[in-house]
Amino acid sequence: MARVYNFSAGPAMLPEPVLAQARDEMLDWHGSGMCVAEMSHRGKEFMSIAAQAEADLRELMSIPDNYKVLFLQGGASSQFTAIPMNLLQGAESADYISTGSWSKKAIAEARRYCAVHVAATTEDTKFTRAPAQGELDLSADAAYVHYTSNETIQGVEFSYIPETNGKPLVADMSSTILSRPIDVSRYGLIYAGAQKNIGPAGLTIVILRDDLMGQPMNGTPTMFDYKVQADNDSMYNTPPTYAWYLAGLVFQWLKGNGGLAAMAEINARKAKRLYDCIDASSFYQNPVDPVSRSWMNVPFTLANADLDETFLKEAKAVGLTTLKGHRSVGGMRASIYNAMPESGVEALVSFMQEFERKNG
Ligand SMILES: *Cc1c(COP(=O)(O)O)cnc(C)c1O
Repeated sequence: MARVYNFSAGPAMLPEPVLAQARDEMLDWHGSGMCVAEMSHRGKEFMSIAAQAEADLRELMSIPDNYKVLFLQGGASSQFTAIPMNLLQGAESADYISTGSWSKKAIAEARRYCAVHVAATTEDTKFTRAPAQGELDLSADAAYVHYTSNETIQGVEFSYIPETNGKPLVADMSSTILSRPIDVSRYGLIYAGAQKNIGPAGLTIVILRDDLMGQPMNGTPTMFDYKVQADNDSMYNTPPTYAWYLAGLVFQWLKGNGGLAAMAEINARKAKRLYDCIDASSFYQNPVDPVSRSWMNVPFTLANADLDETFLKEAKAVGLTTLKGHRSVGGMRASIYNAMPESGVEALVSFMQEFERKNG
């Protein structure tokens, strides 16, 4: 069977060369006589895989030396808990910017540990934009400022890095990390579940400034203590070895294809192609303020929702899959992460234009 263009929001497509390499190395990784999934995480083979992956990620993102990179489990959702537990450091409140479904989940979890001050919310306009810097009402006693730089469900992305007057800035980058170069030094902590733009589910990356660990709140589970994880090179327990290895192959694929600057150019082109198609038609609609439109997740609706099922069925028949929108917003959503080739976006645009000609 031919491979499809999979527009899933996550777990999402992986680069085909990465899958092919993993296949070639499946039974015998580099003469070890073993699959990576069979290796001891403390053996020299896996240690070299782990160290290379971290070095490649540091190089790709230009991560400064005073930042730790952790390879954890539990998904971005566990970080909703770990962040207040580690970063409050005696403070009683934190600022959160609310721009969609994922920020709301982060806020709900943080409320179990501290007073959450919502520094801005765009819920009144159904989360169709990111607030401007001038709209952020930051509080003096907040331990940190949290935001979701790309809302995977609403397709809303910040076009700027919030300025926080010296407070550590914490970003959920699950669905936008590695899509373009960013200035890591502007952040206190960046976290991302791997299954959108890094690798397979099961791995969660945390990049944090080293002064933000070591003062966890009482009762913090050992596994959620960043200092413990950093001191143990993310191997306090058995890490998700195979996911870590595959993420490492993705980092090498990115490096071999021009790094994040090249990805940014391609991603900007892919997003523009799709938004232009939507905007040029009255048959398709995207409700997001153009300055806040996501490069990675493009939700859109059909003028006539009765055609949704037909659209999905016919798209699937030509190899364009998982286009159904999130149940909370309806319609369609095309997730076009790094691994989605430009040919996939071209195929989707052609299909959409043809579908409109037949049904518009
Ligand atoms: C998918 C996603 C999450 C949840 O990730 P898990 O790894 O499933 O916990 C959190 N935040 C954002 C922005 C996401 O896209």
